[in-house]
Amino acid sequence: MKKNIKHILYIENEQEAAWQLIHSLKNEGFVNYQVDWETSLSAAIDKLSLQQYDAVLTDFHLSNDPDTNIVSSLLVIDEDLPIVVLTNDKDQNLACRVVQSGAKDFLNKATSDTRQIVLALERAIQRKLIEHHLAYYAQVDDLTGLPNRNLFKERLSRALIRADRNEKIVALMIIDIDRFKHINDSLGHEVGDELLRIVGKRLSYCVRDGDTVARLGGDEFTILLEEVTNIGDPSIVANRLLESMMLPIEINGSELFVTLSIGITLYPIDNTCMQYLLRNADNAMYRAKEGGRNCYRYYTTEMNRDIEDRIHLESKIRQALAKNEFELHYQPKFNIHDKQLVGAEALLRWNNEEIGSVSPTKFIPIAEETGLIQPITEWVVSEACRQNSEWQLQGYSPIIMAINLSPKQFNRVDIADILFRQIIFSDLAPKYVELEITEGALMEDINRSQEILKALKDRGICISIDDFGTGYSSLNYLKKFPIDTLKIDQSFVRDIMVDNDDAAIVSAVIAMAKSLRLNVIAEGVETKEQLNFLDSKGCCEAQGYFLGKPVAAKEFKSQFLTKNDNNIYDIASNG
Ligand code: C2E
Ligand code: MG
Ligand code: MG
Repeated sequence: MKKNIKHILYIENEQEAAWQLIHSLKNEGFVNYQVDWETSLSAAIDKLSLQQYDAVLTDFHLSNDPDTNIVSSLLVIDEDLPIVVLTNDKDQNLACRVVQSGAKDFLNKATSDTRQIVLALERAIQRKLIEHHLAYYAQVDDLTGLPNRNLFKERLSRALIRADRNEKIVALMIIDIDRFKHINDSLGHEVGDELLRIVGKRLSYCVRDGDTVARLGGDEFTILLEEVTNIGDPSIVANRLLESMMLPIEINGSELFVTLSIGITLYPIDNTCMQYLLRNADNAMYRAKEGGRNCYRYYTTEMNRDIEDRIHLESKIRQALAKNEFELHYQPKFNIHDKQLVGAEALLRWNNEEIGSVSPTKFIPIAEETGLIQPITEWVVSEACRQNSEWQLQGYSPIIMAINLSPKQFNRVDIADILFRQIIFSDLAPKYVELEITEGALMEDINRSQEILKALKDRGICISIDDFGTGYSSLNYLKKFPIDTLKIDQSFVRDIMVDNDDAAIVSAVIAMAKSLRLNVIAEGVETKEQLNFLDSKGCCEAQGYFLGKPVAAKEFKSQFLTKNDNNIYDIASNG
């Protein structure tokens, strides 16, 4: 059997003591210790810089270096070196000092026998191994075995120093698996984990040995390319990464296809600060997602300007509620056939004194990302309901108030309760409230959506699918949801008179809605021709500039509300 030989460097200036220990090691059978003996610190340091030792055993007071802290001096050469100190000193303070300096153990020469010394050395070596082990796991991602965020940051900072020295470029990539959440939710976490492992492996095959592939967490990976000479080089790697996902990933016998979105930033061209580099790459990655996924984007300074604008906007949105800068406009919805006003859609308006009026399509996504959408929606719901209830109290014929819900809010299980509470507070019967939800929001998590919609329906609230036709449009799923209305997206309505495909789609949606016994409304109706076409196909309701633009509450009341029992408004006289 091969012996596991331990190499020990022994530093002792008393010849007698040294010989004694070396001999007793042999005589007492500790044969797997190979001891090199030195009598001075300087000689020991020379040895240590030439050869690797498992541990050092040393006297603390060497006559030729009386005032030196031996332990500290040795650790300068190798900070992990396990050191055991032997001394004649009985002073306990010295023991403390030795250990504080970084020695692993401390023994009294007079009272320790060979066995105890060996034991102390063994323990010191063992401790170093354990510490290394822990340090390793603190730097490695359990799931993929790739470097984790800690190690990645360390490598990045070293790479930047090297790049400065060699006048080379470092490329930092952030890689996100497209629609990973969907895979994870629908196929389960085990499949998700396996997918991450395989993707991690494939990414690793695409880079050179010196480059780093790390997992930052979730489905986000990062790659550090060093020694880049040409700013176009990272795009070659990025293409290789995208191609590496073209072959299906096999898990549990089924084949999965995934794509990546990649953001690239370059040091020192884009930024010289590590933190900003990560942010740049992240922004570029989001651009890749916006650009349709399965692609890469280099960071550009315009992205930064956009970000600054965004941060500015974000802080303004934060203050908007408190400053009362939000307002609701109401757009009428009509029954095409009998021209009755059936409802209104509440549309959020924001007017800031510094930046002017901002479109909801611009500020709502930011509100969603920052979580501000929650208090904003609560305000919208309570204000819209309060307004509707006020009109009813003033004796106007009741109408249904439609309120847009942001997809992000479907992540909250208690959303039905929150909304219901707001409605009840405003003294409005829930049947006069309709929630407009996009298909995408429902499809994110079908089971949860079913649950939430059912809770809303049980409380008497109406449900409408907004922007219908732009999302998944999966009929099978639609049937599973307790919905009342399909709202045909304005992009189809816009071209029904010129585009045969759009006309066909709109006709089909109307027919389908009828067969599912759903109400159907067309949005974005801008001309009389469009309205007539919709009418001829049997569409029940319509909304759009031709019928009425979104207006403030006061105008809505005077323009559209009536006190007798039918809200007849002459569509034909408009436009
Ligand atoms: P949406 O729910 O699909 O609302 C319809 C949008 O189309 C509104 O834009 C409306 O002003 C516009 N519109 C109505 N008729 C016509 C027409 O005939 N032609 C054209 N070209 N446009 C028409 P707006 O007010 O800018 O709102 C945009 C989007 O912002 C809304 O789309 C909705 O998704 C979101 N939004 C508005 N208010 C809220 C809100 O309170 N909460 C949430 N979560 N989202 C809101
Ligand atoms: Mg809407
Ligand atoms: Mg819409």
